[in-house]
Amino acid sequence: MIVAKTFRFRLEPNAGQRQLFARFAGCCRFVFNQGLAARKASYETEGKTLSYADQCKALPDMKKAEATAWLRKVHSQVLQQALKDLDAAYQHFFRRVKGGEVPGFPRFKKKGQKDAFRYPQGVKAEAGRVYLPKIGWVAYRDSRPVEGVILQATIKREGEHWFVSLACEVELQDPAPLPVTEERAVGIDVGLKSFAVLSDGTAIENPRYLKSALAKLKQAQRRLARKTKRSNNWKKQVAKVVKLHIQVKNARKDFAHKASTVIVKNHDVIAVEDLNIKGMVKNRRLSRAISDVGWGLFLDMLAYKAAWAGKHFVKIGRFEATSKTCSTCGEKKAMPLSVRTYACGGCGTVMDRDWNASLNIRAAGLAVLNACGGV
Ligand SMILES: [Zn+2]
Repeated sequence: MIVAKTFRFRLEPNAGQRQLFARFAGCCRFVFNQGLAARKASYETEGKTLSYADQCKALPDMKKAEATAWLRKVHSQVLQQALKDLDAAYQHFFRRVKGGEVPGFPRFKKKGQKDAFRYPQGVKAEAGRVYLPKIGWVAYRDSRPVEGVILQATIKREGEHWFVSLACEVELQDPAPLPVTEERAVGIDVGLKSFAVLSDGTAIENPRYLKSALAKLKQAQRRLARKTKRSNNWKKQVAKVVKLHIQVKNARKDFAHKASTVIVKNHDVIAVEDLNIKGMVKNRRLSRAISDVGWGLFLDMLAYKAAWAGKHFVKIGRFEATSKTCSTCGEKKAMPLSVRTYACGGCGTVMDRDWNASLNIRAAGLAVLNACGGV
């Protein structure tokens, strides 16, 4: 089994490397913006869309020209990759137009926003350091080894730090699939009150460090709203908000990793509801809470960790009435969101709403696996 794994590390560049990072990112931004301008001009004057190959041909001339000779100092594949990214942005745009959406057109990049560059090949990694062509060995803050073959490396600035993401292909031994057993099966209901409720009755709460990071972020955002736009104090506050955003993102990821690892370790069958998170986020009342908790990330982690361990991960359809059905006798009743307790008129069961749902999810997951001959 070949799986994709991404390794992300915070880099510790020296002063010279830091300068090179800024230069590489700046050159990529320049090439991207030039490419975008050229595409727009060609479309407006000749009604023709330039291809990636057309645009690559223009690169050597840009390097020869005196005014843009500084591009020579940057690895040529890194510059080509900027054009490839532009091409991908175009493709993505037209795919969405075809799908009936009204997406935003690819935009010019501004300095200091999403500073990044990418290598399609030539990157090597050892414990604690990574080799970037035309930059050299750069230390990173982690002792995890990189596994597999590096397919692509992205170097990106987040706040004041630079990070590297290594997209790798790792060959794993196919794990023998574990048998489906009722005792080792769990259903998970992701809720708004708790982060998630398991069918064994455990409620997983959002950790305190995430809550406090969120509170700090909200406060910083409120302060930002009160400042005069583009003033010095406003700029300082923007930097604070960006920093807190990164903290929240990392805290959420860290928590999702911990929670998913424990669940996969303790169970062989993991059933969840297919949430169609995009659809739910459109519902305004729920949207804030939902985009805050990061379930998509959590479910993805559960899925791949289960696959690596040879365990069963089942997503059940989102039209199953998991909240409305009594997990003991199967009777159904209306359950508006405000009702936190399920009280069954048929068999007299009284239990927490989310726990009841998680039991139904577990049963539905087992039914799916049994129907597929999983036992
Ligand atoms: Zn009942």
